[in-house]
Amino acid sequence: MAGAVVLLSGGLDSTVCLAMAVREESAVTALTVDYGQRHRVELEGAAKVAGALEAEQLLVHLDLSAWGGSALTDEAVAVPDHAAISSGGASPAIPVTYVPARNLIFCALACGVAESRNCDTVYLGVNALDYSGYPDCRPEFVAAFQQAATLGLKRGVEGRPLEFRTPLISRTKAEIVRLGVELGAPLELTWSCYRGEAAPCGSCDSCVLRAKGFSEAGVADPALA
Ligand SMILES: [Zn+2]
Repeated sequence: MAGAVVLLSGGLDSTVCLAMAVREESAVTALTVDYGQRHRVELEGAAKVAGALEAEQLLVHLDLSAWGGSALTDEAVAVPDHAAISSGGASPAIPVTYVPARNLIFCALACGVAESRNCDTVYLGVNALDYSGYPDCRPEFVAAFQQAATLGLKRGVEGRPLEFRTPLISRTKAEIVRLGVELGAPLELTWSCYRGEAAPCGSCDSCVLRAKGFSEAGVADPALA
């Protein structure tokens, strides 16, 4: 029985995703990428989350700030407030917190880890409902990437394609919070804020979506206790 690779950022969604995978899989590798993110505190959270869920953590350093182009990887680009983003009308533009090609790159890294460790499955905590409009969080992207992986990996041509699972993709943030509580996921260790400050700012897109999720779930955010 082969195991699984879970992309773990240290945020709420990937933590709940890891808690699900640990229940369902025989062996789980939590893959965390130090990509030069402004909110480096999430890396500390990811290590604690992996430890709490007794998953092996693999930390990969791949500095996407080498080319920047995002508020999360370029100190010259400010992280906008949620209010500034959501005023864009029916189809708002993709915000500057989008990191160019991040999930394409992370999915490729997960393929490398999965293939080298003979894992059958990759779990992604992407979410297409309460999200920030990122194109690489959509089911169409994941389906197309799985197809590319089948064509591009040795195990794909050997008839053992990797399966990509996105158990949170169509859940609301409130549903993800409730699921995390049910699974006993260590939500108190998670970090969502895009601004790399000592405490969550409460006003960036990620903070606002998180707060909305906990509020709608009727759960106090244990990370703010
Ligand atoms: Zn924030």
